[in-house]
Amino acid sequence: MLYADIIVDISHESLDKTYQYKIPEHLTEQVKVGLPADITFGSGNRHLTGYIVGLSDKPKIEEHRIKEIEGLVEKGIAIESRMITLAHWMKENFGGTMNDALRTVLSVKKSVKPVEKKQIALAVDRETAEKLLKEYARKHNVARARLIKELLTYQPIPKELVTGKLNVSGATLKALEEQNIITTLVEEVYRTASGKNYINSTRVVLNENQQKICDTICKDYDNGLRNTYLIHGVTGSGKTEVYLQTIEHIVAKGRQVIVLIPEIALTYQTVRRFTERFGNRVAFLHSRLSMGERYDQYRLAKEGKLDIMIGPRSALFTPFENLGAIVIDEEHESSYKSEQVPKYHARETAIQLAQMTDSCVILGSATPSLESYERAQQGEYVLLELKQRAKNAKLPEVEIVDLKEEMAAKNRSMFSRALQQEMAERLIRGEQTMLFLNRRGYSGSVSCRSCGKPIMCPHCSVSLTLHYDQTLHCHYCGHTVPLPDKCPECGSPYIAAFGTGTQKVEEAVKKLFPQARVLRMDADTTKEKESYEKILSSFANEGADILVGTQMIVKGHDFPKVTLVGIIAADLSLNVSDYRSSERTFQLLAQAAGRAGRDELPGKVIIQTYQPEHYSITTAAKEDYSGFFRQEMSFRKMMKYPPKAHILAVLCIGRDEARTEQFCGRVALAAKQYAKEHAGEYVAVIGPTKASVAKSNDFFRNLIYIKADNYDILTKLASVLDAFREQDKTIILQMDFDPMGSY
Ligand code: ADP
Ligand code: ZN
Ligand code: ZN
Repeated sequence: MLYADIIVDISHESLDKTYQYKIPEHLTEQVKVGLPADITFGSGNRHLTGYIVGLSDKPKIEEHRIKEIEGLVEKGIAIESRMITLAHWMKENFGGTMNDALRTVLSVKKSVKPVEKKQIALAVDRETAEKLLKEYARKHNVARARLIKELLTYQPIPKELVTGKLNVSGATLKALEEQNIITTLVEEVYRTASGKNYINSTRVVLNENQQKICDTICKDYDNGLRNTYLIHGVTGSGKTEVYLQTIEHIVAKGRQVIVLIPEIALTYQTVRRFTERFGNRVAFLHSRLSMGERYDQYRLAKEGKLDIMIGPRSALFTPFENLGAIVIDEEHESSYKSEQVPKYHARETAIQLAQMTDSCVILGSATPSLESYERAQQGEYVLLELKQRAKNAKLPEVEIVDLKEEMAAKNRSMFSRALQQEMAERLIRGEQTMLFLNRRGYSGSVSCRSCGKPIMCPHCSVSLTLHYDQTLHCHYCGHTVPLPDKCPECGSPYIAAFGTGTQKVEEAVKKLFPQARVLRMDADTTKEKESYEKILSSFANEGADILVGTQMIVKGHDFPKVTLVGIIAADLSLNVSDYRSSERTFQLLAQAAGRAGRDELPGKVIIQTYQPEHYSITTAAKEDYSGFFRQEMSFRKMMKYPPKAHILAVLCIGRDEARTEQFCGRVALAAKQYAKEHAGEYVAVIGPTKASVAKSNDFFRNLIYIKADNYDILTKLASVLDAFREQDKTIILQMDFDPMGSY
């Protein structure tokens, strides 16, 4: 390598602009992507510090016009430098260009308008507030009661939280303020470096198992050991309490902590638990922040005014000076994989970042990803287990209902007889029910209503997907057949794409129980801002008897009055043409079951299915993670699917159908050639084929899958295929390593 690409200014606009410099011979050994370099710039030869973002052996302009690097900046590697190194690693491991990667990791400076921050506090003393609380509760003034109750445990509360996550209307606030019950505090500067404006809450005493986990991590930390830990703890086992205590220990050492949590799980309770403990030193990122607000949070972090940043995967790029730990809650969540280029996985990236910053990584889940559990089994991660719920040791009773038998008994309703009876009992007892439809947006699998068998690919052990032209396709090998008119297994003519939607479930409930109050939560009812929280808090306030929803309803909130969870058709997520469908089904069922009986009342779960003997369902019903893990891993091993092998999806996207297809064909040929040259290793090129969404926004999408035992082979192959970008600029080439779904 003789030349270095250098950016001289880290701002959004100038990221594309790199300048090439010659690497003097005495520096060729030390030079690395991410290092800051001393350079002279412009005609005046100003001395500047630039960052090396790429290396090459070809000059981009005439050789004699290229200046030489003056030297490398050794001392105090800046945060930017670390981010650039991380971006480079992401590009190498997850594809895309350096520019894509830089845009992902570097926080963007945008003009920030100063916003007035308002907080709500009680204007009356505790005693009066407690009296008011009783009065409001008696009058079913739920919003007022909720607000007063929260203010009694913790105050002041930011106004945006009160009107947002706590769902108290502006009118209610105004009324309470006019009665001098509450008051609004206006602060010019919301966060200050010193002020810890929180009252120390009554602290939970960790139980023996929680304490053991906490001690393990903290002792390692004090001894300078930086491990990756996997806390496998059933829902409600108190993982969050463990995080809180561990984070406190690490923050006390002067280090900072990043906590990743799926956006949907960032509930009011979570915000409160962290704020109670860490006051102004914790900040939250979420998708509703403007670019300016987001930048503001990053800036506070960089200036040392924060100890903890909580948010979705982008929180990983918080520029902390002295990072000490990264916590990833619900580590199995597919939202940790970016859908934009670079399609990085936050877990892998966190582990890389931790290595660069001398930090530890704490992963937590009730249903760990196979990837993480496998690594824990191999001793790469430290496995820590919490097998019991913290408050209520009882796990719910689970009943599996075979829908084939319901069909045979002429019950054409979508609710089995058992589920109908249990729902009726809940209505009488004044308890709540959640009905859950684990339907994914584009699950186009076809199955038989009589025998329940999905139509499978004969080559790949995944179900086929119905396309608009009434043909069935395999997304892994391209196998295509016309939609049969009879079930190939049992000959029944009742064969159809599963068409049940949450709306239909809601209608059916209303028909069956006209007196029941029903709420529905799915993509349609949550389009509006805050509607997600409104539905959940209304249900939590017992504003409804039954909540119908998609996987959205299984996260976060505790509903003490929910004693029945019904899963309408467990097979839906099983029949998705995707090698992860069994894993996803297990996770969804286990999480949904975890919603029942969270408090004193015992819970019951009914799983309706056409495949009562499927291991995803039987093991989820018993919360038998290791049983599931064993069976699923042998499937992955046999089929060479991750984590037993690796997959690279190469997507070619273009306006011109024929041109895109031909381009994809050439890429596939190059991949096959590469495979031939590496005959000693397992490399299999599958395709080219049309993607299941073969056309999107008038862009045609063609696809190649490449399977290999070795991840590095795939990254090397990807960099070979990268050259095709130059061949045809009208076509977008996207790489996705170990994809979360199918294309
Ligand atoms: P998870 O994150 O594993 O779902 P949480 O940390 O949210 O579990 O704990 C579930 C519930 O149990 C919470 O209401 C929490 O306050 C409570 N809890 C957790 N640990 C304890 C403990 N040691 N003693 C009492 N309550 C606890
Ligand atoms: Zn059949
Ligand atoms: Zn196939």
